[in-house]
Amino acid sequence: MRDIITQPDPRLRQTAAVVTSFDPSLATFCHDLRDAMMSGPGGVGIAAPQVGELRRIIVVDCRQSMRPCKNHGLLYMVNPEILLKDGEVLGREGCLSVPDWVGVVPRARMVRVRYKDLHGDMQELEAKGFEARVIQHEIDHLNGVLFVDRVVSTKDLVRRLQSI
Ligand code: ZN
Repeated sequence: MRDIITQPDPRLRQTAAVVTSFDPSLATFCHDLRDAMMSGPGGVGIAAPQVGELRRIIVVDCRQSMRPCKNHGLLYMVNPEILLKDGEVLGREGCLSVPDWVGVVPRARMVRVRYKDLHGDMQELEAKGFEARVIQHEIDHLNGVLFVDRVVSTKDLVRRLQSI
């Protein structure tokens, strides 16, 4: 099992590299990443830099979310890029790499994303609501950005309660 690194580990602040090889080791790594995601609270998304791998890979799965929403199930997104954003909405976020805090963060309500799947094939999808939020949060990790950088104000950053 891969360990999740936490703030202030400097690897969380670096820009991850584009993935160019789609061999079987990529799928193995992505499944390990999903397992690491499931091991934490929430477990709706993770990015490769959170296990110390500076590669542009995210995993998103909103099926188990406490906030039920329309979603695309389990997604492995390699080299994801946001093509289009629409609207803005405030919502609460936490992060496996910032374990003690939650905060209110503005995000686009809808995103259109282009990415490669585990076979290296180009895919595109449109996500809304909570799933769109998770995708934006995870892509931020690929650019060294954490949700704490985006909170509306630091008074919106609160200690995570045991029950959340
Ligand atoms: Zn995060």
